[in-house]
Amino acid sequence: MSPDRAVLERALERGEQEGGSVEFKERLTRDLHLADGRLESLAAQLRHRVLSGDGEATYVVGVTDDGGLAGIPPAEFSESMDVLSLLAEEAGAHIEDVQTWGVPGRDGGADRGIVGVATVREGAMLDVDDQHIVVGTAGHVDHGKSTLVGSLVTGQPDDGEGGTRGFLDVQPHEVERGLSADLSYGVYGFDEDGPVHTLNPHRKQDRARVVEEADRLVSFVDTVGHEPWLRTTIRGLVGQKLDYGLLVVAADDGPTKTTREHLGILLATDLPTIVAITKADMVEEERLLEVEREVERLLRNADRTPLRIERHGVDTAIEEISEQVVPIVTTSAVTMEGLDVLDQLFERLPKTADGAGAFSMYIDRTYSVTGVGAVASGTIRSGTVAAGDELLVGPMADGGFREVEVRSIEMHYHRVDEARAGRIVGIALKGVREADLQRGMVLLPRDADPSAVWEFEAEVMVLNHPTRIGEGYEPVVHVETVSEAAAVYPEEGHLLPGDTGRARVRFKFRPYHVEAGQRFVFREGQSKGVGTITKVLPGD
Ligand code: GDP
Repeated sequence: MSPDRAVLERALERGEQEGGSVEFKERLTRDLHLADGRLESLAAQLRHRVLSGDGEATYVVGVTDDGGLAGIPPAEFSESMDVLSLLAEEAGAHIEDVQTWGVPGRDGGADRGIVGVATVREGAMLDVDDQHIVVGTAGHVDHGKSTLVGSLVTGQPDDGEGGTRGFLDVQPHEVERGLSADLSYGVYGFDEDGPVHTLNPHRKQDRARVVEEADRLVSFVDTVGHEPWLRTTIRGLVGQKLDYGLLVVAADDGPTKTTREHLGILLATDLPTIVAITKADMVEEERLLEVEREVERLLRNADRTPLRIERHGVDTAIEEISEQVVPIVTTSAVTMEGLDVLDQLFERLPKTADGAGAFSMYIDRTYSVTGVGAVASGTIRSGTVAAGDELLVGPMADGGFREVEVRSIEMHYHRVDEARAGRIVGIALKGVREADLQRGMVLLPRDADPSAVWEFEAEVMVLNHPTRIGEGYEPVVHVETVSEAAAVYPEEGHLLPGDTGRARVRFKFRPYHVEAGQRFVFREGQSKGVGTITKVLPGD
C-alpha cells in the first residue's frame, strides 16, 4: 500500500464539490454502472470533473458520499477500476495513476478493505504500435526490478538505497491495465542519437516529451509481482500482448523459489525473455560467476538455452533470442554496468507480438451501449477486423457458435473502420445480445469452423503445490481470457511440485474454444502451474 497518505487526505479534505474535480464513489460495478444510460451519464460526469480540474480529475473509491472511509474488498476495487477505465475511455480520458491504502477494521483489527485514489487525465492512452515494444518485468521482491527499470528510463544510477525506485511506486492497478504506457511504471525511447530518457517519470510532461520525441518507445509493465493480485495480473499477462519478458535475479540472493515461479510463468506464455542479474556491484567476482551458473542451470532445467551476452555479444543475442534462447546480462544500477547492453537490446529488438493470420479475438469484457447494443472488448490476437465483417462468436453454453456482424469498432473511444492484431478494441456486434456474451468466448471469421472444447491434453509443469496433485485436482485454468474451473487428471496418476508431465484437463462448467499450442496457467490457493495444450479432445 502506498505510504503517502497525504494524497488521500488532501483529496478527502478538498471533498466532493459541485463543479469541482473530485468525485467520491463507494464502488463501481459492471452490472450497475455500465448499464444502458448509466454509462453515458457517468462518462459525462467524468468529463465534467476532468474539465473542472483543468484536464485532471480525482476519483476517490471506497468512500461514502460524504467522504467516510468505507473500504471495499480488493476484488471490488479491481472491478471499480475496470469500470472507471471504461468510463474514462468513453469520456476521452484515461486513468493515469492509482494509489491504494488499507482501511483498518474497527478496534484496529484486520483491514476492512481498501480505499484508493485514481487520477484521471484528459486524452487517450498511449497507443501501442510497431515501434513501441512492451516489456513485462518479473522477479523476487527486492531483487532490483524497479531500480533497474528506473535507471534504464532515467539514464541515472541508483544509490543502492532505493533512490531510483522512489520514482516508480508501482501499484497493483497499474499492473492490471498494463498496456497503457502512462500506467506502466516506466517508459523511455530512442531516436537517431540513442536513448531518450524520462528525467522524472513522475512528471507527466516528461513522459509526454519522450513519447513526442522518440522514434521508438519501450514501456515496462509489471507482470507477476503481486501475489494477492495474481489472478488479475495473470489475466494481464496471458490476455494481452507483451513483446518481451525481463526477469531480474539479484547477485547476492541468487535465484529463489519466486524466481523459478516467475520464470515458469514468463516462459509459459511464449514470451522471449531476458534475464538480468542485478546488484553485480554487491558481490565478489566469484559469487557472480556462481549465480550466472545457477541461472544457466535454471534455464536448462526449463528446457531453454541460456546465452550469456558478455560472451556472445549483443548482435548474437538479438539474432538468437526466442522462446528457446534466453539471453543473460549482468547489471548494476549503481555502477550502470550492463545497462548499455539493455539499451542496445531495447533499441533494436523487433516487436514480437506478431498476430499474422486470420482474425481472432478472445473477449475480455462485454458491455451494452444504448443505440449500439452488445459490445465485446479485448485485444485482437491475430489478423484484422473491419466494420461489416461477418463473424462467429462462441462457444455458447451449449457448444454452438452464433453468426454476428461487426456493426462498428472503437479504439480508445475513437471510431475506426479497421483494426489489426495487438490493438485493444471494443467491437459492437449485430446479431447477439450482451447477456449471451461472456469473457473467454472467441470471435472468429465466419468460415472458421471452430470447435467447442470440454477437454484437452496438455504438458504441465507444477510450480508450487503444498502436496502432490492427484486425479481430479480442481484449479482455475487461465488460457487467453478464459478463467474457468477445471479438473486435472495427471497421466501418471499424480504430479509433484517441480514435476513436468502430461495431463488431461476438463472444464467443469462449459466448453471454450481452445487450440493445441496455447499456453495456460493454473492456480488454486497456494498452488500454481503452467502448461501447453497439446491436443484438444472431441466430445462433451
Ligand atoms: P524490486 O522489489 O525488485 O523492485 O527491488 P527494488 O528496485 O526496490 O530494489 C531493492 C533494493 O535494492 C533498493 O534498496 C535498491 O536501492 C537496491 N538495489 C537495486 N539494484 C541495485 C544494484 O544494482 N546495486 C545495489 N547495490 N543495490 C541495488
